[in-house]
Amino acid sequence: MYSALSFLIFFMFSSRVESLNDPSVIIIGAGAAGISAATRLHQNGIRNVTVLEAGSRIGGRIHSVKVGESYIDLGAQWCHGEKNNVVYDMVKNLNLLKSDKISPRLYHSKLKLIDKKFDEKFNEVFEDNYFKNLIDNEGNLGDLLIERFKKTIPTVWQSEHERSLAKDCVEMYQKLVLCNDGAFSWFNLSAKNDYEISDGDQELGWNGLGFKTILDILMQNSSISGNIILNKEVSQIIWNGPNLHSEVVVNCVDGTTYTADHVITTVSLGVLKDRHISLFKPHLSTEKVLALETLGIDAVSSIFLYYPNKWWNESFEGVSFVWSEDEIEKTAEAFPIGPTKGGRSWITAIVYILPVLRSPNILAAWYVGEFVPEIESSSNDTIIKGITYTLNLFLGQDIPRPEKIIRHKWYSDPHFRGSYSFETVESRNLGTSQAAILSQPISREDGKLAVLFAGEATNPIRYATVHGAIETGFREADRIVNLYNN
Ligand SMILES: Cc1cc2nc3c(=O)[nH]c(=O)nc-3n(C[C@H](O)[C@H](O)[C@H](O)COP(=O)(O)OP(=O)(O)OC[C@H]3O[C@@H](n4cnc5c(N)ncnc54)[C@H](O)[C@@H]3O)c2cc1C
Repeated sequence: MYSALSFLIFFMFSSRVESLNDPSVIIIGAGAAGISAATRLHQNGIRNVTVLEAGSRIGGRIHSVKVGESYIDLGAQWCHGEKNNVVYDMVKNLNLLKSDKISPRLYHSKLKLIDKKFDEKFNEVFEDNYFKNLIDNEGNLGDLLIERFKKTIPTVWQSEHERSLAKDCVEMYQKLVLCNDGAFSWFNLSAKNDYEISDGDQELGWNGLGFKTILDILMQNSSISGNIILNKEVSQIIWNGPNLHSEVVVNCVDGTTYTADHVITTVSLGVLKDRHISLFKPHLSTEKVLALETLGIDAVSSIFLYYPNKWWNESFEGVSFVWSEDEIEKTAEAFPIGPTKGGRSWITAIVYILPVLRSPNILAAWYVGEFVPEIESSSNDTIIKGITYTLNLFLGQDIPRPEKIIRHKWYSDPHFRGSYSFETVESRNLGTSQAAILSQPISREDGKLAVLFAGEATNPIRYATVHGAIETGFREADRIVNLYNN
């Protein structure tokens, strides 16, 4: 009797120790945050890790595609900065990053190529107004920048001609902001935010190897690729309830079920906004729902244009499109193909067209704002016609059609629902960092850590970036590792 009891106690004790030493973890999403969480767990001896990825590839918003000899990036393209940047730190000694800084020239719909001096001044004013002294300003970024720009015009530009040109540039100014912040409207962006720029070169490219290189580097010292299951879309995370034993239950769209001690979700803010009610059982707290509803995620995208015969030469720096005030409102009439709003055609949403370094036959057209969802649903033929029309108009030349276009529809893709997150006026007005609230893990009634939240939008100071996403993957993996080390 005594020996049977002690065997039972030993068995209970040893199985408890085993489960503590070998916790199981499910990671939802194989983007930058998911891959970094998996590798960090693995490197710390937690091997019972399963990554469930809805898509048919890893990387998420890192999406490098090989065209010819080089890769182009349909998602994240540049390592932004060198200080406090985990991406930069991982590769700085490998001679992989090269400055990709391109300054596209301003072209005007009536005046064509704008004088370089004006161009340079405009960039200076933009950077001064946009990047400096936002800290003390309440309200929305649009109102603040319009006011600042209006005040700047008479002090910087003397002639009537230049001042009227500067007024036309407000539209371009707005598009540059939207490109950076990813919102559909600059009136929705909070003027004050917690984002911390990592100092140094903001446009460090991957020299034709693609941003996916960082995933290869993350995974090189751990064998986690065998733990990733692709085409596995999670439909529900049951994390608390009377019938649960010790594990979180994860149901997938294909009817399969997985269980684990802990789940790290890395799905985008867009997916959380869309699906949190059906995704979490029980539902998330009111505080968390408020955070995910008030933080913003819209979209900005690039379309890659392939020309078998290059029509530009080596000195081509790209084209930024400045519409004259009277012409912009008549674009729907002048170019009636594809979506329009009021008098405007979708082509007014194109910010610039840039050469792609190391891809000699490719140009990238960036577009922003409220037209993005409709541009995504427009046919390739409409896009090709619109881009060709716009280039012809601004360059005053007969530019050929690209042979094909390559794009990813980040806003309409149900696995993303946007490009990157931002702080809205509404989230800011709540007083505390909503990204920090989003990042808080949730525990079951018995106190066990059940669901942890990673992904770029959960980074209070480096959101919207790959380095920010990786930090959150490490953060949540460390949270689990520390639980078992203490
Ligand atoms: C056009 C564009 C340009 C950008 N440019 C830059 C740049 O130059 N520099 C930079 O630093 N950052 C840039 N970013 C931002 C950067 O790409 C992201 O911040 C970062 O990649 C986000 O990583 P993540 O792991 O948080 O999310 P994601 O990459 O979105 O990973 C989440 C994963 O979850 C998967 N998933 C979603 N739902 C489910 C489900 N139900 N079940 C299972 N899996 C699911 C998704 O398929 C995805 O793979 C850009 C983004 C875009 C779209």
